[in-house]
Amino acid sequence: QAPVLTIDGPGGAGKGTISGLMADRLNWHLLDSGALYRLIAQAAGKHQVALDDEAALAELAESLDVAFPVEDGQPSTLLEGEDVSRAIRTEQAGERASLVASLPAVRQALLKRQRDFCQSPGLVADGRDMGTVVFPDAALKIFLTASADERARRRYQQLQEAGVDASLSSLLKEIQARDARDSQRVVAPLKPADDAITLDTTRLSIPEVVDQLTELLVQ
Ligand code: C5P
Repeated sequence: QAPVLTIDGPGGAGKGTISGLMADRLNWHLLDSGALYRLIAQAAGKHQVALDDEAALAELAESLDVAFPVEDGQPSTLLEGEDVSRAIRTEQAGERASLVASLPAVRQALLKRQRDFCQSPGLVADGRDMGTVVFPDAALKIFLTASADERARRRYQQLQEAGVDASLSSLLKEIQARDARDSQRVVAPLKPADDAITLDTTRLSIPEVVDQLTELLVQ
């Protein structure tokens, strides 16, 4: 079994950036599990499946035709051959993903697909339940957090850089609502695994976080 580094935590804590950098540094595979939930929500829109139709959504999850090709160092996300890299990144897509992710049958249907990403030489798994549910035997489990204010500020900055209009106060509200839903849901609520190391990144730079994780991994 290839080693797994799990990186869980709330939205905006820097999991995506840090996971990508760690995978690059280690030359390991990368699982962006949030993208799978976003893709199911996207496929539901495309095939007119209601976001509360648990059985139909689980079936979509099971048969989802997705690919994550990398061309010239640029990763993209394909749903049924169509490039949805940008479409799945909107706030609305995140909201819809969070609804889909609250359904137990959908989470169950994604288990095997996620575990299949664990291949030699190793895997960095980014999500909410990587250390608690999907990879309970991971070599190192990290729980990344940052204050809600800081996470809203980072998100705001990201959107500004992408040329998207946003309001800091509504982003903060959205982040708090999503945190509440993700941590209060019945299946796989957002919480650190018992054996996870929690890292608060509010006052840490990205390189500082990457260095700390690398150090923890070689220990
Ligand atoms: O991380 P990202 O924002 O892309 O995830 C979108 C949504 O998918 C999250 O708000 C969360 O509800 C859900 N999710 C999850 N379990 C994961 C990854 C994401 O429930 N492992």
